[in-house]
Amino acid sequence: MGGAILDLTSFLVYGRPADISTIAMLNAAAANYSDACQQYAVEIIHSVLRSSFLFVPLVFIVSKSDKLFKSINNSGIVVSASFCVLITIFILILLLKGAQALVGFPKGFNYLFSTLTIELNSKVAPKIFEASSPSDKFSFFTKEIKNIILVVDESIEYSEFRALSNFDQEKYILDLGRSYSAANCSAPSNYIIRKGFWESAIYTDQSKNIVVKETDSLFTVAKRQNFRTYYFDNQNVLMDKTVRNYFTDDEIENIDEIIEGVGDAWSRDMRSLHRLKELLIKRKEERKFIFINKIGAHFPYQNNINPNLVSGDKMKDYRKAVQLGSIDYLKEISGSIDSESLVLYTSDHGQSFNLNSTHCNSGSILTMQEFTVPFVLVTRNDALINLIKQNNLFNKTNHLMISETVRNICGEDLEKVRSIFERSEGKYAQGIYGQPFTFFGQFPTCKSFTFD
Ligand SMILES: [Zn+2]
Repeated sequence: MGGAILDLTSFLVYGRPADISTIAMLNAAAANYSDACQQYAVEIIHSVLRSSFLFVPLVFIVSKSDKLFKSINNSGIVVSASFCVLITIFILILLLKGAQALVGFPKGFNYLFSTLTIELNSKVAPKIFEASSPSDKFSFFTKEIKNIILVVDESIEYSEFRALSNFDQEKYILDLGRSYSAANCSAPSNYIIRKGFWESAIYTDQSKNIVVKETDSLFTVAKRQNFRTYYFDNQNVLMDKTVRNYFTDDEIENIDEIIEGVGDAWSRDMRSLHRLKELLIKRKEERKFIFINKIGAHFPYQNNINPNLVSGDKMKDYRKAVQLGSIDYLKEISGSIDSESLVLYTSDHGQSFNLNSTHCNSGSILTMQEFTVPFVLVTRNDALINLIKQNNLFNKTNHLMISETVRNICGEDLEKVRSIFERSEGKYAQGIYGQPFTFFGQFPTCKSFTFD
């Protein structure tokens, strides 16, 4: 039943059934189920009703086979054999004809089979790993900066952010203009920021595949270089047992302290800012890498502003959330840090306001707005600001450069990726959509955008 509802909901929200390229996204995007339910309530109710009428026989079979599958040792040989045949057909269709062909596959099976297929894929298509190496190339920055604070906001689209912000007069806030997120969906984007990259040498044309490689997590790098590591989990992703923004247990072992977000969504980011200020004062002497995963302007937008300020108009509420949670937040943080701290601020992805689904879309309906995000630095270190200004980075950055900047300050270097300490020479801005992993030999799909 769950699978059928999911397929239908996917159809109503994304305009197509939950195929393999969207299933991981649905898992990831809908990880915050209560938000998803609120945002897509109408679609979900439709799906539940239609599922009940249309798929009762199928749901019966699925639930029956589920139970039998569990007691596979003493019975259900026929069922498990049919199951094997079906999943084999599923994978064959997928490999030979692509995800589109699965549209005709029995609804309800897609979710279950896709999940199993993703699991199987992780066994047969291991990730390509490349380690960063210790480097003193950036030792000036390594010496100057004791606190690296990486703030990943949620759903902050660049042009909306730009229209509301004016940091030109702010001495300690350096707005690097429009940046591009590594992906258009929270989980893959956060994953790539923490430990994924691709080489600039393979920047290709629109909609080509891209080889996403894995490297050590920023937490692992920071820990190795004697930073104490912190994760502000304002979205409680680590409490979700399924997706967790693709965190693995060994990665979490490299986080010294996890600060879970508490209280109403709209109050969490500011609350965590107070914790950050405390931390910076109380543990002044230690070197710190602090990753703040904000709630930001996550849908439904009205949940992210003080209830007294909710207007009921979608865009007005969104802009309010950006003003309060993003722009005021940056001003607040600039008053709380010293010359030994560098804040790198961006958003996990942008927002496509004209589509039914604001992000995590795929294929031809994708818009650039799902990838356009701000990139802002906050520091009281004048020397650092002046050096970075010389690098001509305005509107020429992306998430990969943000992660590489963190590695460089830690004293490590991933040779094939540039940081903001080098001049930007990229011709394209790119982000991937769909899964960030290789799928049975097929590399993730990318969307390229030409710089102005
Ligand atoms: Zn997100």
